[in-house]
Amino acid sequence: MDLSDFKAKDAYKAVFTPSRLLHSYLICGEDGEDKSALINTLAAAMICESGEKAPCGVCRSCKKSLRGLHPDIIHVAPPEGKREIPIDMVRDVRSEAVVLPNEADRKVFIIEQADLMKEAAQNAFLKTLEEPPRHARFILSAENPAGLLDTVRSRCAELRVRTENPETDVFSKELAQNFFTALRQGGLVLAEFTYTLEKLDRDKMLMFIAASKEETLNRMKKGKLKSQTAGKILAVLEKCSEHMKFNVNVGHIAGMICAELIG
Ligand SMILES: [Zn+2]
Repeated sequence: MDLSDFKAKDAYKAVFTPSRLLHSYLICGEDGEDKSALINTLAAAMICESGEKAPCGVCRSCKKSLRGLHPDIIHVAPPEGKREIPIDMVRDVRSEAVVLPNEADRKVFIIEQADLMKEAAQNAFLKTLEEPPRHARFILSAENPAGLLDTVRSRCAELRVRTENPETDVFSKELAQNFFTALRQGGLVLAEFTYTLEKLDRDKMLMFIAASKEETLNRMKKGKLKSQTAGKILAVLEKCSEHMKFNVNVGHIAGMICAELIG
C-alpha cells in the first residue's frame, strides 16, 4: 500500500474534517477498491495523531494503518465460506470494545458486510452502537443497507461510494457503436472519432467508457469480436477508467485511446 490509498480523502473532503468525524459510519455501495479506500482512510483518520490533517499519512499511526498493521483497527467479517456474521462475533466485538485501545486514543471496528448480520446479531450490536465506550468507533460496510435494521442505520452517518461504472445513456451507447465503426475502419477515421471525444465533459466521457466496455463484451459474446481483440480494447478502456479516477483530462484520455488502438 502507499499514500494513494488515502486518495479518498480528496474525494470526500467534507468527511475528513477531523472535528466533524463521528462515532459510527455506514458505508454503502458496491464492494471494490473505492469502497475499501474510503473505509481505510476513515479508519486511519480516526486514529491519526496529527489532529486537523487526519489522516496525515506520516505519523506512526497512519504508517501502521497503511500497512494494515495497526492493533487498534479491528476487522470483523463473515467467517470464510459463510454468508453471515454470527452473533458470537458480535458479542466478541462488544466485549473487545470496552477494553482500552493498545496505542491510539481510539479503537476502530470495521464491520465488513454488516448487512449479513441477522436480526438478533444486529440487536446485540445495537446496544454497543447506542452507548459506545468513549474510545470506540465503528465503520459498517454494506452492499445492501436495506438489510440493516432502521435502528442500526439511524445510529450511523451514511456515506455512499460513487460507483466505478456509471450508468450509461442512449447518447453514450450510440457513441460506443460509432467507436466500433471507427475501430473497424481504423487509421484516419479512428483518429477523427477520438478527436470528437475530446469535446466530451467528464461525466459523458465516463459514460462513453462504460458503454464501450459493455459493447465490447456484447460483441465478444456474439462472436463478432475475437477474444484477443476484445481483451486489447478492454485493457485500453480499463486504463482510461483508472486515469479518469486521478483527474487526467478528457483530451488526454481521447489521445490515449487513439494512440493505443490505431494500427
Ligand atoms: Zn497521521
